[in-house]
Amino acid sequence: MSRFHSSVSRRDFMKGLGLAGVGVGAAAAAAPVFHDLDELSSSVNQSHPWWVKDLEHENPAVEIDWDTFKPFDNKKNPMPSITPSAQAANKVRDDDLQIPAFANKTPGDSLRDYAFGTGSSFIGPDAPWDGPAGAALPANAKGVAWSDTPENNLQMMRAALHTYGAVLTGALEVSDKTSRIFDASGFVFDDSAIGTQDSSKVYHIPKKAKYMLTFAVKQNYIQSLHLLREDSSYRGGYGTKLQLGNQAIGHAYSNSSQVGYMAMRMVKTLGYGAYKAGVRANVPLGVFSGFGEQARSTHLMTPRYGLMVRYTNYFFTDLPLAATPPIDFGAHAFCNTCKRCAERCPSESISLEGDRSWDTISPGNRGGFKGWFMNWQTCIDFGSPGACGNCQATCPFNHPSDGVIHPIVRSTAATTALFDPFFASMDRVFDYAKAKTPDELEAWWSRDLDNWKADTTLGAGKSMW
Ligand code: SF4
Ligand code: SF4
Repeated sequence: MSRFHSSVSRRDFMKGLGLAGVGVGAAAAAAPVFHDLDELSSSVNQSHPWWVKDLEHENPAVEIDWDTFKPFDNKKNPMPSITPSAQAANKVRDDDLQIPAFANKTPGDSLRDYAFGTGSSFIGPDAPWDGPAGAALPANAKGVAWSDTPENNLQMMRAALHTYGAVLTGALEVSDKTSRIFDASGFVFDDSAIGTQDSSKVYHIPKKAKYMLTFAVKQNYIQSLHLLREDSSYRGGYGTKLQLGNQAIGHAYSNSSQVGYMAMRMVKTLGYGAYKAGVRANVPLGVFSGFGEQARSTHLMTPRYGLMVRYTNYFFTDLPLAATPPIDFGAHAFCNTCKRCAERCPSESISLEGDRSWDTISPGNRGGFKGWFMNWQTCIDFGSPGACGNCQATCPFNHPSDGVIHPIVRSTAATTALFDPFFASMDRVFDYAKAKTPDELEAWWSRDLDNWKADTTLGAGKSMW
């Protein structure tokens, strides 16, 4: 491949962003100097846009204390349960909303909307933990196994999974550090030739399966906006989810299971093993394999799709895969200023104050890194994540390319935090993620299907930004 070398000055960079007029003084000083277009286009990982920087392997854009960042121990650090009083209060709240909504065919929240959502939600199929059986090989190809370099194998899997429906595909290699992403119990790596499960329900994974294929599917943003329900009884003015938009969440879970099933079957047919066991927390998988950064909402925030991916899925395999590095696109600085997710959180579980911290705030938080922590107890007492998706749906980084946070804004935010307050204010003014009106919710059912914006990538490419 030919390499094109050139210098890009601060002034040229600001001009390229359409910000030359503000490029005098502080803004110009904050802009970078790229010595070379190869440096500028530094992220070859994941086909991220040019303004995303690759970092060193196992060194994401978050401080980690490797002495205290341990595998997740479900016994010592279980997720909290809903308190009985909150459960009783939620039943009254939800009955007050749902019973009349079904009886009166309330737009966005009727039985029709509920049935639509359940039709595609969480339907799998989930592959067996050691993968579905590979396909039989043609008779004249018996005994042939696939062999290629780790880099080519990753590229092969990325190409395949894009068609299966994943927008992001990466890989990790099991090491002393990456193994701490996993759960503390429930599985072991050993010398077994194939995966087994013992009488204590512990999964035994062959040591040679030391690669992890990671992947994430898109969640339909346009559809997700239909979950927002205005409710003035909460600080941010938004309450529990509407059924019509809730469909986007459950559907994305189905897509992820289906992509995983297909990918495991492909790997098994190539002649390799595929095993899925032992990782409860999926955000670190996405952070370490370079899909995005941890956001204030505690979701994985990605450069192109914001919080609209669900979720980082994975499996172990002995198919050699080149690991993909973590990335930095300025998410931390943007989240410091933005706080839109926290403003909209009805249970006030996301902090409106402060920066990332070493201090966890709730059972279910895993410590050992300087990050964002959510109060799981208050979120769960609200009935969430099932009852609400406001934090995820509100993030300005979800915007499609014609939204307020368009590609130039993203590339600027990746380069300098100087304009982040302005960008966040723009999002408040334009309020892209506002609740639909009853007429808009009703009209969804008779929308013009020829011109309705598509927002999935299931075998159909990706948004042009
Ligand atoms: S899902 Fe939980 S954290 Fe997110 S907005 Fe709702 S209540 Fe808040
Ligand atoms: S809404 Fe704002 S603060 Fe929250 S995750 Fe998105 S960018 Fe970060």
